[in-house]
Amino acid sequence: MSAIHLKNLTKSFGDFRALKAMDLEIADGEFMALLGPSGCGKSTTMNMIAGMEEPTSGKILFGERDMAGVPMGRRGVGFVFQNYAIFTHMTVRQNLAYGPRMRGAAKAEIDRRVDAIAEMLQLSPLLDRKADRLSVNILQRVAIGRSAIMEPAIFLLDEPLSNVDAAFRAVMRTELKQLQRQFRQTMVYVTHDQLEAMTMADRIAVMDHGVLQQVGTPLEVYNNPANVFVARFIGAPGMNLLRGKPAESDRGLVIDLGPLGITPPLSDELAFSVRAARAEVFYGFRPEHIALAERGLSMPVSFVERIGARTIVHLGEGESAVKAVFENHVGLSVGQTAIVAPPASSVRVFDATTGLAVRAG
Ligand code: ATP
Repeated sequence: MSAIHLKNLTKSFGDFRALKAMDLEIADGEFMALLGPSGCGKSTTMNMIAGMEEPTSGKILFGERDMAGVPMGRRGVGFVFQNYAIFTHMTVRQNLAYGPRMRGAAKAEIDRRVDAIAEMLQLSPLLDRKADRLSVNILQRVAIGRSAIMEPAIFLLDEPLSNVDAAFRAVMRTELKQLQRQFRQTMVYVTHDQLEAMTMADRIAVMDHGVLQQVGTPLEVYNNPANVFVARFIGAPGMNLLRGKPAESDRGLVIDLGPLGITPPLSDELAFSVRAARAEVFYGFRPEHIALAERGLSMPVSFVERIGARTIVHLGEGESAVKAVFENHVGLSVGQTAIVAPPASSVRVFDATTGLAVRAG
């Protein structure tokens, strides 16, 4: 019943198409993140699932049931927004108890549920505090608790952590995941923060400009991005992409990167597909997979960013700029030349015209 199926879902505002023919199946009990940059249509999708917006065309099914015309209150969904929606004149306990009380639950049952949810969200010591005395972090926790206590089969969260501070966000990522494991709801989580999506979601739906780009587990979208948008968007920093032309060499198929030289040979499986595609390509590799080598791409160090545990080294500039992530003690400085080589197994290639991944054959 709480599986969600979006079928060819489209939403237009006047002439503007905010969502284009979205097909997505979210399994019962799955944690699905909708991830993408601002304006890509995440909230619009979520609002249609919740029943706050009508689709322009297409269908939304909960299980086998078509949601067309079913009002928000009858959809059995819990909703948490970026801005906490709670009653500030009430205590935390009263806020948590509000939903079950409105449903006519017995006092003993309400107390049991309030205690359980407060325990899970670390609100027990604050139960009798008035909400207007609490920090934004705690208020968002109360807002999540207020929705969760209703045990909705479908739980929709739209950027719930974007207003809380960084340390608290890290704690909440773990707690939300535990909450979902315990209640086994179907959870749809809107975020532009890939770390949130990667750490919590079973699968991620990556969106851009109203178009679903890829759906997969966090590792699938990280390891095998479907196109250059996903390659750049996932990862911090994103995947390096250098334009070039496939060329045969005595060591196998390489990519001729023009002034940057020739790449190390592609793996046999990838070379097979790249030969068949016969196109100009982007040679892709993750910053964290780059190793210093004796043979490889020779690039000047243009900037060194030390971020504590790791060091991000910027190499080259303009169209041929790449970033490399090393251990913090790497001995590179601006002006030096680094010879770098991504291991063949982690190289990905994209058709430069379509932007689509060329999959290893
Ligand atoms: P954000 O995180 O910034 O909210 P988003 O991915 O959730 O981004 P949406 O809020 O779904 O994006 O908006 C998608 C596009 O639709 C945006 O260009 C937005 O300006 C537009 N849009 C959303 N709602 C309306 C509306 N009611 N009328 C007109 N345009 C709208």
